[in-house]
Amino acid sequence: MKRVLLYGVGTIFILVALVVIGLRIPAVQDIVLERGATAVIAAEPVDLSDPDGLTLIFCGTGGPFPDPERAGPCTLVAAGGRVFLVDSGTGGAQRLQQLRIPMGKIEGVLYTHLHSDHISGLGDIALNSWAGGRKGPLTLYGPPGVEGLASGTFDAFGIDSKSRIDHHGAEVFAPQAQPISSKSFVVPGRDDTVTVIDEGDLKVTAFKVDHVPLENAYGYRIEFRDRTVVFSGDTVRDQNMVRFGADADVMVHEVMGMANIHTIIGALRDTGQSTTAKILTDASEVHTSPVDAAEVANEANAALLIYNHIVPPMPLGVMEDIFMRGVSDVRSEGVMLGYDGLRVRLPAGSDEIEVGAL
Ligand SMILES: [Zn+2]
Ligand SMILES: [Zn+2]
Repeated sequence: MKRVLLYGVGTIFILVALVVIGLRIPAVQDIVLERGATAVIAAEPVDLSDPDGLTLIFCGTGGPFPDPERAGPCTLVAAGGRVFLVDSGTGGAQRLQQLRIPMGKIEGVLYTHLHSDHISGLGDIALNSWAGGRKGPLTLYGPPGVEGLASGTFDAFGIDSKSRIDHHGAEVFAPQAQPISSKSFVVPGRDDTVTVIDEGDLKVTAFKVDHVPLENAYGYRIEFRDRTVVFSGDTVRDQNMVRFGADADVMVHEVMGMANIHTIIGALRDTGQSTTAKILTDASEVHTSPVDAAEVANEANAALLIYNHIVPPMPLGVMEDIFMRGVSDVRSEGVMLGYDGLRVRLPAGSDEIEVGAL
């Protein structure tokens, strides 16, 4: 028995050694690359054409801080074949491409507000959706200021865009799809809503949330047939999420892990980094804790709560435990931490919520 075991271990060792040596031979490297590249390139893109469902794909569940696990705020919404993003955070375009999203399907971006972490990926979204075969201008919806975001990004990328057409031709980079258009709107008061899109089975309405000192910070309620998703944008705990998020199938709520952030603020103060400590302290006053978001989802009678805009990054496992402390006491089920690559599908005409990773 002992001899058989030694023989087996010896065989495995020889095989591993052969593989390691083989991978140093140029001809073998070429074969490995060719097979790998073919496998990756031949993989089917994600199908966003489902005519009977509302689908969310999380392309960025982080905030403004560098986080290798999470891109900046970015969520794709596919509704009966129409495809939009909610915010275009840092790294969102790269995450979409990693997830094999057909970028040319993206027709617009709904902005919750114009903080940098929510807008800074726009240039990459505009270019890659254009390269992906977008048919018309990319349309930006959001608060006043979104016109400048559209025109400024268009101007800033003007030399790049011209070079793309010159280099690859107008058949690849269709000139009519180059523009970035905008539709800004104001939600007059906290009791008001603005209908942003009302076309066929799709209805998008915006409402005010509290994210001082910004005057215009919006949440969105997105309805497709009988299914509903509500996005909080950035906000403190706000009763408007209860009111306008009522009976949502999915509530996507921003969160800040307050215990984690306060520990980090303490460490910054202890090491003399008072400016960063002040910025984080100010930031902690305009966001929502996980427990508060859970209570909001309960009051709104939301079926599934997904935490989004997860701040601060959580490189240590214990931070996730600390982040979730107290949540199960107020909401024992129907709550989850969002992650990049999460897909949630809501088939019309049912109560089903299909959750999985791409
Ligand atoms: Zn933010
Ligand atoms: Zn913000």
